[in-house]
Amino acid sequence: MSEISCRECGKSLSGSLTNCPHCGTPINPNIPKYPTFGGSGWPIIVIWVLFVVFMGMLLISMFTFQD
Ligand SMILES: [Zn+2]
Repeated sequence: MSEISCRECGKSLSGSLTNCPHCGTPINPNIPKYPTFGGSGWPIIVIWVLFVVFMGMLLISMFTFQD
C-alpha cells in the first residue's frame, strides 16, 4: 500500500480517505480508476470485445487474401 500526501497541505493521508482531514481538499488517488462511462463498467468491455473481434477479423482477412 502506497502512502499518499495531501497536495494542498502536504500531510500524509490514509488511502481510504476521500478528503484531507486537515484542509478538506479532495484527494486524487495515485492509482487511477478503471475508465468507465456514466458510472457503469460494461460499455468499455463491449468496446474492448468489439476491438478484439475487429482485430481478429483483420488478421483473418490478412491471412486469407494474401494473393
Ligand atoms: Zn490537506
